[in-house]
Amino acid sequence: MKIHIDQVTKQFGTFYALHKVSLQVAAGELVALLGPSGSGKTTLLRVIAGLEHPDQGEIHINGIPVTHHGARDRQVGFVFQHYALFRHLSVFENIAFGLRVRPRRVRPSQREIKSRVLELLDLVQLTGLAERYPDQLSGGQRQRVALARALAVEPKVLLLDEPFGALDTKVRRDLRQWLRRLHEELSITTVFVTHDQEEALELADRVVVMNHGKIEQAGTPEDVYQNPINPFVFDFLGSANVFHGRVEEGVARLGPIQVSAPENKLANGESIVGFVRPHDVVIVPQSKEADLAAEVVYIHPIGPTVRLELRRMDNKERILAELHREEYAELQIKTGDQVALKLRKLSLF
Ligand code: ATP
Repeated sequence: MKIHIDQVTKQFGTFYALHKVSLQVAAGELVALLGPSGSGKTTLLRVIAGLEHPDQGEIHINGIPVTHHGARDRQVGFVFQHYALFRHLSVFENIAFGLRVRPRRVRPSQREIKSRVLELLDLVQLTGLAERYPDQLSGGQRQRVALARALAVEPKVLLLDEPFGALDTKVRRDLRQWLRRLHEELSITTVFVTHDQEEALELADRVVVMNHGKIEQAGTPEDVYQNPINPFVFDFLGSANVFHGRVEEGVARLGPIQVSAPENKLANGESIVGFVRPHDVVIVPQSKEADLAAEVVYIHPIGPTVRLELRRMDNKERILAELHREEYAELQIKTGDQVALKLRKLSLF
C-alpha cells in the first residue's frame, strides 16, 4: 500500500517537531528515515502509525484519508526499539497475541492461529523456539520475535523505529541483511527509522534525510550519497574533508585549490565551502598535477582499505584519504612522507 504524507506539521507546545513534511512512499517500497537525534524521525513514524495526530496536513494510506484515524484502523504493524515483548508469555503466545485479541467474528480458529504462528517462526528463522520465554532469547532473537508479532496481523504497512538500535554491530549487520531478504519476500511497504547512515544506505530503496523537523533530501542511496544537495546531507552521509574559500572574478579559491565558481555564486566575495569524500582524495606522483601537498601523519589499515590522516602543508589542517590496500602497497608511503594530492570530486556549496 502506498503512503502519501502531505504538508504535515506537528508541534509540541511552540516547538515544531515536524514542519510541512511531504513524502510519498510507493507500494512495496523500503524507505529509511535518516537524521540526527531530535530531527523528527520518530514523530514522523508515529504520525504515520496513528499514534500521534498532525496539527496540520493530511495522510493517506492507499488513497484513503487516515489523518484522524487511530492506529487500530490503519492496518499498520510497528516495532519500536523499546517495544518490549510480553515477558510472561512464550514466543508462541507473543506472536499469537494480535490474532487472539481480534474481535470474535474475525478471530482465526486455534488451528489457524497455530499454523500462522509456525509459519511466522519459520519466516523469522526461529523454528523450534516457540516455547521459550523472552528472557531465554538473545537480543537479535527478541527483535525477530517482535517483527513476527507485528507481521502476524498481516499489516499493509510496516513501521520500524531503530529496529536494531540496541544490538551489537555484528548482529545488526546480519539482521539488516535478513530484513532486506524478508522484505524482498513479502514486499510490505516499510518505513524504518535509523540514525546510522550505513544502515540506511545498505538497506533502503530510498533514503529520506531529515533535520530540524524537515526533509532535507530524499532519493536512492546512490543519489543522496553521490549528489547531496547541501552541506548537511553531504556531512551526514559519510566523512567529509571541508575546504573554505571565496569567489574572486568567477574563480572559487579554497586555499591552494582554484576551480570555476558555481553559477549561483559568481559574485566577488561570495563564500564557498568545498566537500570531498576521503576516497576521492588521490595521491599522485607528480606534484604538478596536484591540487595540494600534505604530510602523512597516521596510517590506519582497516580491512580492505587504508585510511591516511594527512596534514596540509599550506595551513596545517587535517585531511583524510582512503585507498585500497593494493594502491597503498604500490605507493610505498610511510608516516612523515610528503605527498601530492589530487581531489577527484569536489562538491561546492
Ligand atoms: P532520536 O533519534 O533521538 O529518537 P528523532 O529524530 O526520532 O530523534 P523525535 O523523537 O521525532 O526525534 O523528536 C523530535 C523533537 O520533538 C525532539 O526535539 C523531541 O524532544 C520533541 N518531542 C518528541 N515528542 C515529544 C513530546 N511528546 N513532547 C514534547 N516534545 C517532544
